[in-house]
Amino acid sequence: QASSKIRNFSIIAHIDHGKSTLADRLIEHTGTLSARELKEQVLDSMDLERERGITIKLQAVRLKYKAADGEIYELNLIDTPGHVDFSYEVSRSLAACEGALLVVDAAQGIEAQTLANVYLALENNLEIIPVINKIDLPSAEPDRVKKEIEEIIGLDASDAILASAKSGQGVEEILEAIVNRVPPPQGDDSAPLKALIFDSKFDSYRGAIPYIRLFDGKVSKGTSIKMMSTGKIFEVIETGVFTPEMTPVQELKAGNVGYIAGSIKNVGDTRVGDTVTDARNSAPMPLPGYRKAVSMVFCGLYPVETSEYDRLKDALEKLQLNDASLMYENETSAALGFGFRCGFLGLLHMEIIQERLEREFGLNIITTAPSVVYKVNKADGEVIYIDNPALMPSAGEIASIEEPVVRATVMVPSEYVGAIMELNQEKRGTFVNMEYITETRVSLHYELPLSEIVYDYFDQLKSRTKGFASLDYALKGYKESDLIKLDIMLSGEIVDALSFIVHKDKAYPRGRKLVEKLRKLIPRQMFEVPIQAAIGTRVIARETIQAMRKDVLAKCYGGDISRKRKLLEKQKEGKKRMKQVGSVEIPQDAFMAVLKMD
Ligand code: GDP
Ligand code: MG
Repeated sequence: QASSKIRNFSIIAHIDHGKSTLADRLIEHTGTLSARELKEQVLDSMDLERERGITIKLQAVRLKYKAADGEIYELNLIDTPGHVDFSYEVSRSLAACEGALLVVDAAQGIEAQTLANVYLALENNLEIIPVINKIDLPSAEPDRVKKEIEEIIGLDASDAILASAKSGQGVEEILEAIVNRVPPPQGDDSAPLKALIFDSKFDSYRGAIPYIRLFDGKVSKGTSIKMMSTGKIFEVIETGVFTPEMTPVQELKAGNVGYIAGSIKNVGDTRVGDTVTDARNSAPMPLPGYRKAVSMVFCGLYPVETSEYDRLKDALEKLQLNDASLMYENETSAALGFGFRCGFLGLLHMEIIQERLEREFGLNIITTAPSVVYKVNKADGEVIYIDNPALMPSAGEIASIEEPVVRATVMVPSEYVGAIMELNQEKRGTFVNMEYITETRVSLHYELPLSEIVYDYFDQLKSRTKGFASLDYALKGYKESDLIKLDIMLSGEIVDALSFIVHKDKAYPRGRKLVEKLRKLIPRQMFEVPIQAAIGTRVIARETIQAMRKDVLAKCYGGDISRKRKLLEKQKEGKKRMKQVGSVEIPQDAFMAVLKMD
């Protein structure tokens, strides 16, 4: 039977409330790693994560803790990503646990993602231990936050732990609470193997390695395992635990958290949420909740230099090895040449991949504006899904277009309610309802087109509420809408990579603004370049880029040679991110211009 000395738990929190800092403290306090090792090993996992202060990838670590009762416990901390883009991953890692620490910033109180995460934890029947963090801050108001926890979430907060992940206050109490309040795993060692994949990693020697939580049964070297979603079978060559390095152990059994290696070549075969069973003695039913990652946002990625196409392809292949939710396929653009259409879980996921391509692989890429997936009901009865605006059929072939809508929750101090309503109005939102969660804070529920969230929603939300609003959203479904395709023409030619889908009411102002913006962004060429925005054959806006004066360099003749060199270098630098489209050079900014216009 599963060991009574095991506790599997997660930490859930709104971003910046101190989850990572607290995790580090727990690791340090249990002597799992020294402070120095901690810095080197845990935090260095991903530069990007560090810089942006977000948690991207799940990780697990086993803590050995000698409790007040004198017994030694194995505490498995399963980390969850802290962003809405990854809510499915969050839900699967929570499903691997029996309990969760709910960390709430003592000065900020409950935010939209605190709530979203709590709901996921409750759905998974977890024991929730409220931790009020940052009580060292002068602005900390633990009593107010306790009240919020009780009133908004409905949890008893009388025994909430007051902590400071910064100073270490409350850490011992947290560890005791994990031991005493989180139930030990239940499960049957002798039943057929049933293990949940909550993450996976690619290792160049051992292949794709699923991170698993065993619910029933055992697994060890030589076990023939079967992935229940695909039926694929692999032989296990190693089982191990996270200390936090991968450390081999003889066997994993019910209740354990660890990894298995088995010459699995492709991370696509180790899907988060899938159930691993024994091929010779299979569980009759997989664990509930599995679903395939769905891409919500798509964009085109093209090498600036055509010769870098193969390198870009290699890089995407490598990134996909570690990230089964990254989708890509070949795409050809009349304007940009050969590249890839890529699908992402959300905007943040997209930005992370773009940055990694540039930073880790040193690639120069052109990214087209992100698009959602439109459902097009054609006049002939066919239904198609379009993730690239350039491929939208002509108006005559379309009966109707549907777009993805989300159910969004915005939490703000009440003085910003007006600002949020205005923003959501502009974003074609439908008001659902509004609740006062305390006297001064409000939760607003809206239905919003996903495409409007992609278009500059976060920045607007933050700037209009001085950073006080928090957002959470989940896909609700498709809804018919009056959408049309807007094309951009340079020198009379449509640039397919600049086409976008827009609501009819916004087509004119957006087209107008975009051509104005493009006029400023596209550098002068040797000849005059007209820029036009068109719906079908109807031009709705036009601007002209004047021809370049030929004396840019002439000015420098006879003058300072270093000044001339600087000018040339500057031009070269600028060129890097330029794409030659027909006879016109277009900078990267132009492709993203459509995103920031309102
Ligand atoms: P996460 O996004 O939830 O992982 O939050 P982090 O652990 O990255 O913390 C966000 C910020 O809050 C960082 O600048 C931390 O140094 C700071 N922080 C975390 N815990 C505390 C605390 O107990 N007291 C204070 N004053 N700052 C804290
Ligand atoms: Mg973090």
